[in-house]
Amino acid sequence: MSKEEQYDMIVIGSGPAGQKAAIQAAKVGRNVALVERSRELGGSCVHRGTIPSKTLRENALRVKAMRQSAEIANFELPEEIELATLISRLGDVLDAHDEYMRRQVSRNNVELIHGRAKFVTPTQVAITDVRGNVSLLNSEHIVIATGSEPRTPSHIAIDHEHLFDSDSILSMLYLPTSLVVLGGGVIASEYASIFQALGVKVTMIDKYSRPLGFLDDDLTDTFIAGFEDMGGTWMGQSTVTNAYWDDKKSTVITELEDGTQICSEKLLCAAGRVSNVKDLFIENAGLEVNDRGLINVDANLRTSVPSIYAAGDIIGPPSLASASMEQGRRATCNALNMPLGSMNTMIPSGIYSIPELSSIGLSEVQAREKYPQAIVGKARFDEIARGQISGIQNGLLKIVCDAQGKKILGVMIVGEGATELIHIGQMAMISDNDIDVFVDNIFNFPTLAEAYRVAALSIIGQRT
Ligand SMILES: Cc1cc2nc3c(=O)[nH]c(=O)nc-3n(C[C@H](O)[C@H](O)[C@H](O)COP(=O)(O)OP(=O)(O)OC[C@H]3O[C@@H](n4cnc5c(N)ncnc54)[C@H](O)[C@@H]3O)c2cc1C
Repeated sequence: MSKEEQYDMIVIGSGPAGQKAAIQAAKVGRNVALVERSRELGGSCVHRGTIPSKTLRENALRVKAMRQSAEIANFELPEEIELATLISRLGDVLDAHDEYMRRQVSRNNVELIHGRAKFVTPTQVAITDVRGNVSLLNSEHIVIATGSEPRTPSHIAIDHEHLFDSDSILSMLYLPTSLVVLGGGVIASEYASIFQALGVKVTMIDKYSRPLGFLDDDLTDTFIAGFEDMGGTWMGQSTVTNAYWDDKKSTVITELEDGTQICSEKLLCAAGRVSNVKDLFIENAGLEVNDRGLINVDANLRTSVPSIYAAGDIIGPPSLASASMEQGRRATCNALNMPLGSMNTMIPSGIYSIPELSSIGLSEVQAREKYPQAIVGKARFDEIARGQISGIQNGLLKIVCDAQGKKILGVMIVGEGATELIHIGQMAMISDNDIDVFVDNIFNFPTLAEAYRVAALSIIGQRT
């Protein structure tokens, strides 16, 4: 017989969105159940996405730095290097994170229930655990935070042994000698450049002419130049018709529309992500997905069923851990009638490729569509003292301003430190400072942040 429990709130999914939603409800004294189908807490962010990829990146940067100092250190990676060695700290990072999350969940008296959730009615969820036992949970408030998983195009024969997706790529045993990366988005750019920095021969293939199409060309040019300087190959405007493992030749074959065949030891398909709704039976709650497979929400994260909220990747872009956490917290506050007002839409995007990229607000192309006379100021890292001292050759900070050269419309940065530096621009924009703030105030010297001052001076110099 199934067990039946009543909660003030049920949260489905323990990724960044679900976790923050559950903790917020508990913090205001509500009796909350957090349902997670996996053994671990933390979702893709902790186990397959953000944290593992950034841990590998840290080591790739070290390997790259050692190679650059090869004249002194005579450094070479051993031939058959296990991937696990390169993410050796990952276990420690994940354990520390898991421990922290479990303590936080238990300290706040959130009831953690491991099992697969599906809707029975808009206010009832059935949970099936690994042994097949079913329990029924009831609540007037439910937050869906079941995240996303990789999209697999039908012509790419993913086998998780030779052809991987972004969830399985780090389960590769050995560092391959060559890797084809399909896609030109954030995940593709990150992994392509990380593996190239580790010395793998990477070919990145996408149907668009350049990767990361939401950024301006000068930014992506700098990324491509950095990637190709390390030995990578970018193949834009190329349509992949088929990719498979050829047992006889012991190689992965990637076939392009123009007849080209590329052989590689491994392949990573990073062709976007799809929302995790398939097990949820959302129709039992009176919900449906939109034509992109996402759950629609309003500005308060409320779905079309008033008692059900949704947050994180399940509702679509920006599909970032950073945004998901805040959406989760807000979903709960709104559901429990503690409204916070609308969420600031000015969210930075951080791309942890090598070199790093980050942006906030409008790109130059987007700004010119609205304000044709927009003014742009740039600062190259190799022209400022810190860049020269640190030997940063390929870095660029760009500020886009209105036609009066006052209001900051957007900031874009490429180069190491970009994902941290962007927050200076973000704070200036959120506080509605005009561009003079970067000139009228004193920053540490020598720092990369000086680039803000240089770009601002360039804009002020163009005022009419
Ligand atoms: C390779 C990679 C790198 C990334 N790098 C970054 C980065 O640098 N910065 C950044 O901000 N973001 C990054 N992201 C994105 C980030 O990981 C996601 O935006 C974030 O994890 C979404 O959080 P979420 O809570 O919506 O879902 P998820 O983290 O996907 O968690 C959803 C949880 O729901 C559970 N679940 C699903 N269905 C059910 C069910 N029926 N019953 C019970 N439980 C269920 C799943 O097991 C999972 O634990 C990256 C993603 C990837 C793949």
